[in-house]
Amino acid sequence: LVEAVGVRKSFGHTEVLKGVDLAVDRGEVVCLLGPSGAGKSTFLRCVNHLETIDAGRIWVDGVPVGFRQAHGKLYELREREVARQRRDIGMVFQRFNLFPHRTALENVTEGPVRVLGLDRAAARADAMALLDRVGLSDKALSYPRQLSGGQQQRVAIARALAMEPKLMLFDEPTSALDPELVGEVLDVMVGLARDGMTMIVVTHEIGFARSVADQVAFMVDGAVVETGPPSQVLDNPQQPRTQQFLAKVY
Ligand code: ATP
Ligand code: MG
Repeated sequence: LVEAVGVRKSFGHTEVLKGVDLAVDRGEVVCLLGPSGAGKSTFLRCVNHLETIDAGRIWVDGVPVGFRQAHGKLYELREREVARQRRDIGMVFQRFNLFPHRTALENVTEGPVRVLGLDRAAARADAMALLDRVGLSDKALSYPRQLSGGQQQRVAIARALAMEPKLMLFDEPTSALDPELVGEVLDVMVGLARDGMTMIVVTHEIGFARSVADQVAFMVDGAVVETGPPSQVLDNPQQPRTQQFLAKVY
């Protein structure tokens, strides 16, 4: 579903992505690990075209992200077309980014009503089902400030799912949470994975990676240096950089 080849990205004179290669099959969960500054967040932002890449290519479901193919040539998309592409990709950040003055239910219905043009009643029914799926049907009318961090993050997941994405990107979704709230968010993500959602998850939750990931990708210094099943990358890493990182962190 996702194929990244030779992705490069610089900010000013600093090259942050130095040729990232990653392939994700439909229904697969890929956990992206690596030290701070490796370029993990930047890469996720490129997949969603929140950043424009300098070289290489990223395809999502056969379509080059940020570009349109015509007559054998690639044309950069306009803002409106980028927005259209981005609908298929849900993103959940470390910070929950909910609309503070809207209830949980309104946060989840906003996208489908405004962007997909669903009528409000249908969007509400879908949103209630999604809130139920993340275990929050009793919090539909609560405002973000009335919710715990874990609950807010689950609303954020429901909000992303409301757009019926083909792909979900998670950037350290639990690292801003108190330890006792991490589990409830990971449980929702486990459920999503079981339901066959394609996911790229930047995380330091090694237990999650071990039990849920089909593939672990280790990124360092702007490149993916090792990928494979968790049993291989986590327990028997081949690359010295991966070995060092795992020895230090876990
Ligand atoms: P962490 O684990 O700390 O979240 P990361 O692997 O997600 O790290 P990135 O956030 O992708 O790393 O950052 C990679 C490098 O790119 C860092 O050195 C960062 O300072 C730099 N960087 C990221 N975004 C920008 C930007 N908009 N402008 C300039 N430099 C940036
Ligand atoms: Mg990051």
